[in-house]
Amino acid sequence: MPDLFKGANHSKCQEAFEIQRDFFAQGTTLPIDFREAALNRLLENLGEREDEFLDCLNSDLGKPALEGWLSEVHFIRTELRLILSKLETWLRPVRAGNPFFIQPARSYIAREPFGTALVIAPWNYPLQLALGPAIAAIAAGNCVTIKPSEHSPATSDALARLIADSFQPGHATVIQGGSETSTALLDQPYNHFFFTGGERVGRIVAAAAARHLAPCVLELGGKCPAIIHESAAIEPCVERIATGKFFNAGQTCLAPDFVALPEPLLEPFLSQLESFMLATYAPHPEDLAHCPHEAHRDRILSLAPSDAHQAGTDDGLRLAPRWARVEWDSPAMREEIFGPFLPIVTYTDPEEVIGRIAKMPSPLALYIFTRDQEFERKALARISSGSVCINDVMKQGINLQLPFGGVGPSGHGRYRGKHGIETFSYTRPVTRRFFLPDLFAAKPPYADLFARLRRWMK
Ligand code: NAD
Repeated sequence: MPDLFKGANHSKCQEAFEIQRDFFAQGTTLPIDFREAALNRLLENLGEREDEFLDCLNSDLGKPALEGWLSEVHFIRTELRLILSKLETWLRPVRAGNPFFIQPARSYIAREPFGTALVIAPWNYPLQLALGPAIAAIAAGNCVTIKPSEHSPATSDALARLIADSFQPGHATVIQGGSETSTALLDQPYNHFFFTGGERVGRIVAAAAARHLAPCVLELGGKCPAIIHESAAIEPCVERIATGKFFNAGQTCLAPDFVALPEPLLEPFLSQLESFMLATYAPHPEDLAHCPHEAHRDRILSLAPSDAHQAGTDDGLRLAPRWARVEWDSPAMREEIFGPFLPIVTYTDPEEVIGRIAKMPSPLALYIFTRDQEFERKALARISSGSVCINDVMKQGINLQLPFGGVGPSGHGRYRGKHGIETFSYTRPVTRRFFLPDLFAAKPPYADLFARLRRWMK
């Protein structure tokens, strides 16, 4: 019954939540074997449906098969394998010491699931960003409800079928719908909220989590700068920035949003970028994803100046990749681009660019291209960001050994691999004592004890 909850209303959302709350309360998800069996089923089913998902991603976003495979299907299968191979180790209780005045005792720190988790996902990586948090929640022992985006309908449908075929509905389920469905889900007292999307909805999710006194992770966006220092080699900067930017047509939260470079490097950068784009992207429009809908496309067109350079021609929702030199106060520098347009700004001295970017809202990622260690040190120290990559873009975000997440306006909380398990569980301290005499019990009469404690506990 994969579309049981499609366009679900309030009572359907409540029903789905209650099924999960009861499932968790029965303790079914507590044995690690049970979680591993479910995740193994998911791994196998996803492998069998690889082509189906690539078709759905293509139909929703024109995603080229290579991009869909690398960044969604293969990415999640790799994370599943990593989690399955390490889960027992990551969940092992950690021994802790004990102060002498509670001896004899044994203490340890256990990892416990929260219970029920709600994952709300965006459309740009509709499989990866729905399943990534969900598998971490499952691995940590929770039950999870996934609300995928209404703007990636084919992938959301396939995801609903995949989850229904891999899990009992009490363990994991997909509820489809737009903001009304999300609102109904946010009314349910889930024990954990995980949201990926824009800042506006992020605030709504954070407020709902606060009402339920539940922890909340916000994976938001922002303007990720790519700062080129005069010491950098221009050719690799051009190729790496363009390749990262135009992957998924720039609809990546970690994509370099704009380039800042010294005024004298502007001409060489523009001319190499033009050659690279005309040779690499213009002949292959089919290798560029498209926008999810017209409003998104029109917003990007409104941000790009009419004289922007472009590689190829626009075709419906598929915009040709474009770039332009702009001023620091232009509309393109006031909001996240999140599409195939690369604004380029210039600076005159390194202090100026660090100062300007440090005053902007903290982005999800900071990219610095330099061979100058002093510049690198200063930029790292003064510009805050969720993550950093030096001399390339986005590589820090595809490494499952590293935590992924923002800071301040780009969000809070971390996930991926081990960090996802840490996010979806809490550390519970446990102390065991024995039925032996209490040498330091704080019970009256206090006089003798006080003197003894003062002597011992200096
Ligand atoms: P969005 O915020 O519009 O929507 C995200 C989800 O929220 C969707 O499932 C949507 O149905 C739901 N939603 C919409 N209105 C809602 C409401 N009023 N109440 C509750 N839920 C509601 O984001 P989007 O357009 O899907 O994605 C684009 C944004 O996501 C960009 O800002 C991008 O930077 C950010 N993003 C961040 C990451 C990350 O990992 N940090 C990854 C991808 C995208």
